[in-house]
Amino acid sequence: MAVKPIVLYSENEAALRKKSEPVRVMNRHVKKIIRDLKDTLLHCDNGIGLAAPQINIHSRIVAVRLNSSAEGEGNLDPPIALVNPEIVESSREERDFDGCLSFPGLFAETVRPHYLRVKGLDERGQPFDRVFEGFDAVLVHHEIDHLNGVLFIDRVTRPEDLYTVREDEEGNIIRVPVTMGK
Ligand SMILES: [Zn+2]
Repeated sequence: MAVKPIVLYSENEAALRKKSEPVRVMNRHVKKIIRDLKDTLLHCDNGIGLAAPQINIHSRIVAVRLNSSAEGEGNLDPPIALVNPEIVESSREERDFDGCLSFPGLFAETVRPHYLRVKGLDERGQPFDRVFEGFDAVLVHHEIDHLNGVLFIDRVTRPEDLYTVREDEEGNIIRVPVTMGK
């Protein structure tokens, strides 16, 4: 059985910060990266998106599970891959939930577009031009950020927007603010 790629955590910041290169040819190597990304995403609890640099591959490929909501409810679609995704239009910047498989247990509120038109190639190498709306737009925007070495913590504008969670005495999930060294 093939060894599963390991998701890089924030300790590997240099790798996460490195900009990814466009895919030039859809070959077996690229298809293998796509498979690895989708498989790894499926094995991550609550995982809805993963970008190639998060498995230490610096190619412009992301995998996303659409149809999620900020609360993680709803039936997620199976993962799809976007190759060389390029934002051609974005609007409806709103505050929403953010989190990242490379930062387990850390959450934030960030401002991202809730309307996103993206061009690129699908996993068969066919060109696409499609619109993502609502939290799907937030998700795709987050993953494209990874290809440029941008992390969600960079988009936190107010310190109180970065938090972890814990259960209080009554079993309610409460936010615990995190202070980043500034
Ligand atoms: Zn992420």
